[in-house]
Amino acid sequence: MCGIIGYTGPLNAKEILVNGLAGLEYRGYDSAGIAYFDAGSQIKVVKKVGKVAALRNCLKKREDISHCGIGHTRWATHGGVTDENAHPHRFGQVTLIHNGIIENYHQLTEKYGLQGRLASQTDSEVAAGVLDSVYEKCGRDPLTAIAGFTEKLQGSYGFCILFDDRPGEIYAVRHVSPLVAAYTSSGAMVASDLTALITYTKEYFVVPEGHILRLTPYKARVYDMGCSRVEPEMMEVNWNMDAAMKNGYPHFMLKEIHEQPDALHNTILPRLLGGVPDFTADCIPDQIFTRCSQIRIIACGTAMHAGMVARALMEPLLRIPVTVSVASEFRYENPLVDKNTLAIIISQSGETIDTLAAMSLAQSLGATTLSIVNVKALPLPGKAITCSIPMQVRR
Ligand code: GLU
Repeated sequence: MCGIIGYTGPLNAKEILVNGLAGLEYRGYDSAGIAYFDAGSQIKVVKKVGKVAALRNCLKKREDISHCGIGHTRWATHGGVTDENAHPHRFGQVTLIHNGIIENYHQLTEKYGLQGRLASQTDSEVAAGVLDSVYEKCGRDPLTAIAGFTEKLQGSYGFCILFDDRPGEIYAVRHVSPLVAAYTSSGAMVASDLTALITYTKEYFVVPEGHILRLTPYKARVYDMGCSRVEPEMMEVNWNMDAAMKNGYPHFMLKEIHEQPDALHNTILPRLLGGVPDFTADCIPDQIFTRCSQIRIIACGTAMHAGMVARALMEPLLRIPVTVSVASEFRYENPLVDKNTLAIIISQSGETIDTLAAMSLAQSLGATTLSIVNVKALPLPGKAITCSIPMQVRR
């Protein structure tokens, strides 16, 4: 899964971006790149197939100073692994990075006459072309342009955007793909993953879907699609970088295998009362398991295998059908889901795009959804409980 980072503030942006991308390397990627405003407020793009170290090497040759930029590690979905297809993409006055898939990019290419004008084979550059056109038409107002632009997109996206005539500013918008943001006295940041932010701050917020984030050197402001300000709900990270890093193991798989006993212990023990499961602290009522007429477990990869174990344990006890679906196929299956369905969504990171898309679909069909993730974050004291507790229920 790709990684995204953006920074604007008094510090050395290029260094923060490249270090942030290095921190996101564990997610897997095929190329990396950054775009930044230089001291003359010109946007520069540097991108390269291969490791973040290769990008770092390219940047060593550039001594220009920057205080605002965006960075990306790509996991190719449209177009091969080439320098041209790496992000950021620049089209007209727009430079952007994208996490996700624009499903209707063919139609958009035709509608906006982009054939022959694109430097890459990516769906993401098509999006840049569309945004550039909308930006020009609406009189170069970033918020109005982004609101209009998102109406034209089908698919999943987390975008970070620079406009040529807005030096020092970063805009972001997301649908399904994750984005978190933070601001401190050392600048404002956006990233696809908290690990890129927690070196700088423990306080952050999730960029809400259907909203636009605007970063200026010390501020991170959120707007709805009508361009009105919305106060984001601040959250606090309660884990540290050690938990996110390899902790002495040569690779993540080995670390996770060795951590299984602890992970099971830490997950199960606090949820047992008198020897039986108790989810009161997670605000999950027991009735959600008995009130439904079927349970659909939805996940990808190893999480789906965990779901298969859960199915084998649950069905004999509950005496209702429990099925397991691979999340990436779920939305193409015209699934049998209704308001009497409990959909249990499992994702280690809580970010798996296909799993999030399946969860949205299950919710739109009326299902109760219960999600199991291992990224635990707590709301700040005094703020309402939100979705980022490790087990979550939404009706
Ligand atoms: N679909 C885009 C591409 O292939 C973005 C992929 C990603 O999320 O890294 O370039």
